[in-house]
Amino acid sequence: MSQQHVLVLNCGSSSLKFAILNPHTATVVLSGLAECLGSDTARLSYRFNNIKTAINLAPKASHQQAIATLVDIIKENDLAQHLVAVGHRVVHGGEHFTRSVIIDAAIKKVIAQTANLAPLHNPANLIGIEAAELAFANLPQIAVFDTAFHQTMSAEAYLYALPYSLYEKEGVRRYGFHGTSHFYVAQQAATMLKKSITDSYLISAHLGNGCSVCAIKQGQSVDTSMGLTPLEGVVMGTRSGDIDPGLFSFLTQQLGYSAVTIDTLLNKESGLLGLSQLSNDCRTLEEAHYAGNLQATLALDVFCYRLAKQIAAYVVPLGELDAIIFTGGIGENSSLIREKVLTLLRFFGFTLDNDANLAARFGQSGVITANEGPCALVIPTNEELVIAQDAAQLIKEAN
Ligand code: AMP
Repeated sequence: MSQQHVLVLNCGSSSLKFAILNPHTATVVLSGLAECLGSDTARLSYRFNNIKTAINLAPKASHQQAIATLVDIIKENDLAQHLVAVGHRVVHGGEHFTRSVIIDAAIKKVIAQTANLAPLHNPANLIGIEAAELAFANLPQIAVFDTAFHQTMSAEAYLYALPYSLYEKEGVRRYGFHGTSHFYVAQQAATMLKKSITDSYLISAHLGNGCSVCAIKQGQSVDTSMGLTPLEGVVMGTRSGDIDPGLFSFLTQQLGYSAVTIDTLLNKESGLLGLSQLSNDCRTLEEAHYAGNLQATLALDVFCYRLAKQIAAYVVPLGELDAIIFTGGIGENSSLIREKVLTLLRFFGFTLDNDANLAARFGQSGVITANEGPCALVIPTNEELVIAQDAAQLIKEAN
């Protein structure tokens, strides 16, 4: 059993993240990234046996070509023999999927139909699935949905106050994303707190390039900040998060913006990048902030303020609070953001442990508060491990 390995694939619109790992020991055998697919600078890099290798792919290389290169790497390094499944991260499962599933033709059809809710992501995920089916015809393919964990939300949390027919006929509702990450860190938090997950009241803040907050009551997602799409909620790297929907008619009627222009503005030109006019990268903004760049400080302050407000709001569905969890690239590494957010949340009685806050970085987890009552935790996320574990569990159930 310990020699079982799962290949995990995460296809973005122009990228492919991959990893081979052991779902039982969490050991990562191989990991890498193909990026700029479809462009002249398409490339792939991977780490195996602690050696990093970079390869230039053919200009405009596709996902299929990237997967073909990955197959060569797997063969060259004799890694195919222990593979038992391929696990795919699929962004949108709509209301169809409340858990991970073994992929067959019917499942692919539903993923394709759900592409109306995720027009950039689900088609890319399907390309990855079909390329992997060709390359690894003998292996079961498993879909793990970003939305599935949030299917436990109640109607009052997932409905927009819109005409109900939009929900009934078109599926317009809040779905939430980052489900595997919120699930994983919640389980880890319960272990750290020495509590059962069914007796834990947690708020997790996944802060990467995309950011979302999730209220997890007794192991179940009861609310989350992303909605129909990953645009809703807190401020992100390039996404605006919540805005007044009236902005849409202001931009169209007053400024003549098209729907496409607005979509690009809100998804790619806003957030930390839009506010700072400098970068979407938190590290760059922190350096600029310490160097006296006021616009960078403003962007970080808006980010933290909105985040703290969102976290505070989630005591409503939880009713109690054991811990808030910081994860994702920013949550796992930025002691500055954590300090600012916990200061804004002083009403909850948080007292930052400065040494612990500085120590909990670069993959190190820890409790970063010193007070009695609710605490703050830093927990590195591991979505690949959840995907690999789900895949292993499903093939065990099927046999
Ligand atoms: P992710 O999407 O989870 O890879 O997270 C990307 C974000 O994490 C970017 O905004 C990075 O700037 C941020 N990040 C990574 N390392 C650090 C760090 N040491 N300090 C602050 N932010 C970081």
